Amino acid sequence: MKKEMTKRIVTSGLTLAMVLNMVNFPLFSVGAKAEENQFRANAVTVKSLGEGNEEPKFIIPTITAFCGDKLADLTFIQPENGKLEWINPDTVLKEGHNSVEAKFVPDDTNKYKTVDNVTVDIVAVHNFEKKKNLSFHTEEEPVEDEAGSREYYQCSICGKKIGADNQVHDDNYFIIPYIPKSVDIEMGTTSKIASYVLNGVEGVKTTSIDNADKYKAYFTFDESTGEINSPSSAKYYKKKKFGTPTITITDQAGETYKVKLNLKNKKPDTFKVDRRNKNGVYEYTLECKAANADNIKIEAISGLYNNSTQKALNKILSKKVGDNIKKSNKEASVKISFTSTKRAIKGKVKFQAVAIYGKNESLPYIKSEK
Ligand SMILES: [Zn+2]
Repeated sequence: MKKEMTKRIVTSGLTLAMVLNMVNFPLFSVGAKAEENQFRANAVTVKSLGEGNEEPKFIIPTITAFCGDKLADLTFIQPENGKLEWINPDTVLKEGHNSVEAKFVPDDTNKYKTVDNVTVDIVAVHNFEKKKNLSFHTEEEPVEDEAGSREYYQCSICGKKIGADNQVHDDNYFIIPYIPKSVDIEMGTTSKIASYVLNGVEGVKTTSIDNADKYKAYFTFDESTGEINSPSSAKYYKKKKFGTPTITITDQAGETYKVKLNLKNKKPDTFKVDRRNKNGVYEYTLECKAANADNIKIEAISGLYNNSTQKALNKILSKKVGDNIKKSNKEASVKISFTSTKRAIKGKVKFQAVAIYGKNESLPYIKSEK
């Protein structure tokens, strides 16, 4: 009995160890070396040439090469008693397992058989040391209208992308989604947290929420679907102040993003803005109605001469609304009028009306003058 152990170390750090037990057979080794001698692949061993009608037998370990190597580029250490040739020497090896066919021709073809279909498994890896066939793509930060991208190398042979962790990943792994820090969520409706991921939603892996139980009176969050479900009864919810839950979004690469949820009641039912020219000044009439609301707040948000003009106007609006608000147990409504010099106005004024429900506020109803 004869025992032989072969152990080879390749430059990428892989260690291929093989124990071949040979029992009374002639031993011939056929090795393959990749171009640049980066790999010394395990040898294909002719275990037995065979006698008479017997088929030759082979021991075929997995051979290692680089993605992009051509079979013809792998140089053989040929055995003494035969020759191994690739059937399709032009085959280009790609990352992963490549099953290729070889032909074994013994020197003494009268005595031994030729074998046409020796299947050899070649595992191709990427050549990081020389960055062969690999082009680098730098990281791109996500912006509001476009998702970002992690840095990666891309192989021009197999097209695969390799991350900073030296691993091959699919495209979604490299997406850096654009996610706003906070979003307004309307209670009484169903929405998907994914719809608040403005770009690169394919890069999102999981979403979760802390202390979900705290908010169950007005919404629930389904972590498997990323859906926010708020019962229609919650649209006028006023029993207590809404909390500000935080949702954690994790992307494919494991990076996390926090999103603050600003919970809002339903916006007012109607909001009308009217402006008329009257004796050289503008006369505005604003009218708002909100079912089940306790109060209404109206503010100008743009279109005034400057910030202090806007502030001054909002003070007037606050007082006028306070003086004219009508409250019943069914709705709050208000209609106010005010005049402004033309100088105080820059273009069109944009107003927002917010309904108040207990300590909670509705989404704004934003309206521009016509
Ligand atoms: Zn490749």
